[in-house]
Formats: sequence, C-alpha cells, structure tokens
Amino acid sequence: MPQSSASPRPAPIVTVVDHPLVLHKLSLMRARETSTSKFRQLMREISLLLGYEATRDLALEEIEIETPLETARVPVIAGKKLCLVSILRAGNGILDGLLDLVPSARVGHIGLYREPRTLDAVEYYLKLPEDLPERDVILVDPMLATGGSAVAAITLLKQWGIRRIRFLSLIAAPEGVQALNEAHPDVDIYLAALDSHLNELSYIVPGLGDAGDRQFGTPAE
Ligand code: URA
Repeated sequence: MPQSSASPRPAPIVTVVDHPLVLHKLSLMRARETSTSKFRQLMREISLLLGYEATRDLALEEIEIETPLETARVPVIAGKKLCLVSILRAGNGILDGLLDLVPSARVGHIGLYREPRTLDAVEYYLKLPEDLPERDVILVDPMLATGGSAVAAITLLKQWGIRRIRFLSLIAAPEGVQALNEAHPDVDIYLAALDSHLNELSYIVPGLGDAGDRQFGTPAE
C-alpha cells in the first residue's frame, strides 16, 4: 500500500509508493554499475508503477456497450483527459512508462536552466498542446532536489490555466518536497523514495547520481 499523509485541502499529499517492485527497481537504478540501457528500462518500468498510483483517482463514467453476451454498462475514464509534461531532459525517461499506461495522453515539454548569478529557473524551451487548459497535468522530473525547476514549471502551467497538476518523481530530497509544498500546496506529489538530504552540489543523497547523464550515457560534468 502507498504511504499517504492525507489531510484536508489545501495541504498537499505526498505519496511514497513503497510497492516491493518499485523498491527493487529503484535499488537497481541507484547502483553505480547499472548500465545505461538497464537504467532506461528500469525507469520506464518504475514510471508505469508510479503512474498507476498517480492516476488512481481519475474520474470514471459509465457507458453502455455490447459484450458478446449482452448489453452492459461499464466504467471508462470520464471527461477531461491527461497531459504529461516533462521537465527536460531527465523527465523524458519517465514519459515512456507513463505513455505505456495512458497511450492517448498528450505530451508537453518544458526546458529550464538555472541562471548562474540569480539561481532563478529560466525557461529556454516550451511546447505544450493547445488544449492544455482542458486537461489535467502530470508533471514529471525524476529528481526533486531543490525544487527550483518543479516550482517554476508549475507556476508556468498555472499561468496557462491548468487547475489540477500532479507531480511525479522517482526520488525527492526533503528540501525539494518542502519547497514545492510551500510554493504550490495544491499539487500532489508521487515518489518512489524520499531520501536523506542534498549535498553541497545539490545532489540528492544517497540518490542515484545525475538522472539525465545516467539515462542518456552522457559524461558527468
Ligand atoms: N538532479 C539529478 O539528476 N540528480 C540529483 O541528485 C539532483 C538533481
């Protein structure tokens, strides 16, 4: 069962999905010797499992169909559909797993870099579906470290009029969860693990290293 600290709105919900398969896959991802291809495969698999929890409360409606035996009223996902939004570039690995789960979802991308002087998150790329305001969003980034990118991306999505945003990540630091909760208390967070702390370079400890470099096989800077 996921551990949920559910409280009345507007307090956020942080769900750590502690399913044995999630924990096992995440441990393999953390290991330094795990290859790039295995890392990507695990990210896809674990994202599907996290997505399963993050979509648990999607609204249903009944439709009438003909089975081979009779007419039946059956549940289907109601109304508003989903848009998956990836924070570049590491979020893209999570998209694959979520699209396995919700193949009809639209996809958006947000690129942000940290301005070295002010440390502000600055947008360098934005491509979102036109009907985004009609959709619920699952924003994805595998590492919630300081929370700077997630907070900036959610602020941007809210400017587009999105009402319901869920944030899905593999590993968070307590600092990132706090920053996100303070800035956007209406955004629920789904994680595979809440780690110990950030180091002096803002890496999550014990973490898994740089999620982008590990999934794309690029050298660590
Ligand atoms: N981004 C990463 O890829 N890893 C971290 O530990 C923190 C931020």
